[in-house]
Amino acid sequence: MTTSPNPWSLVIHGGAGAIARSQTRPDTDTGLRAALNAALDAGGGILSAGGAAVDAVEAAVRVLEDDPHFNAGRGSVFTYEGTNELDAAIMEGSTLRAGSIAGVTRTKNPVTLARAVMDESAHVLLGREGADAFSLEHGLEQADPEWFATPERRRQLDELLSNGGKFDVDMKYGTVGAVAVDQHGHSAAATSTGGVTGKRWGRIGDSPLIGAGTYADDRGAAVSCTGAGEFFIRESVAFQINARVRFLGESLQQAADIVMAEVQTLGGTGGVIVTAPDGAMAWSFTTSSMYRGRAASDGSRKVALYEDEG
Ligand code: ASP
Repeated sequence: MTTSPNPWSLVIHGGAGAIARSQTRPDTDTGLRAALNAALDAGGGILSAGGAAVDAVEAAVRVLEDDPHFNAGRGSVFTYEGTNELDAAIMEGSTLRAGSIAGVTRTKNPVTLARAVMDESAHVLLGREGADAFSLEHGLEQADPEWFATPERRRQLDELLSNGGKFDVDMKYGTVGAVAVDQHGHSAAATSTGGVTGKRWGRIGDSPLIGAGTYADDRGAAVSCTGAGEFFIRESVAFQINARVRFLGESLQQAADIVMAEVQTLGGTGGVIVTAPDGAMAWSFTTSSMYRGRAASDGSRKVALYEDEG
């Protein structure tokens, strides 16, 4: 007797922010949608072939890290000192294994370094020089600092510095993430970011913190977050959504909307993407845009940038 495979699903994001359609150049709009489609192709190809959710989220995030439109890998925002310091996390819902890295400067694909921490170390979170050294020792592809730096991100830092270095609440984000469920009913989540423009003093956001910006549990939900990280940390957003689904039996949409409303009450903005092991998918955001996409085994597929695209 053969058992029919679990429906697979994949949801990705490329960051949430206050970016109006009128502020986006047509070529940028096209480039963003093309990159989101390429990420869905990369992750969806693995899932439709029967591959693991954890491989799918890593593959999808790598595509977005390599694309300079997003604040992850190439195209990451600048620190106050004019450097790029990258954070990433990955988690597997069937085993609760997780790996993450914060403040790395030389690994071309930070999500793959997080994966190596999960697979090849006894730890969950490695930081800064130590994480850079682990990356080298484990033979991960390295990149010169210039690889990550783009003129647009430099301009954004210059703008922030000319405003006295004050963080702008309307600051444009661009963090990337993916959540997935595979044909075996297992889930995974991954997130990658350059953080926030002008960050200082070794600031680390929610993205690499397991339970804050990234979480996956086959008994609940897989979650990847984007937005003002300090608020997401304080609400343990990713774990809290998983816990509401697991313990309260809320739908993904209910849980995501409730927790995003709590973030908003604290003064934070942003969004989340969520999957459940039965293949259910949701997203929720409190900003005027969240770059996002989803694909599933029933053939459905969507890529959207702005709030009014549903
Ligand atoms: N959450 C990220 C951080 O705070 C930024 C973002 O998602 O745009 O580092």
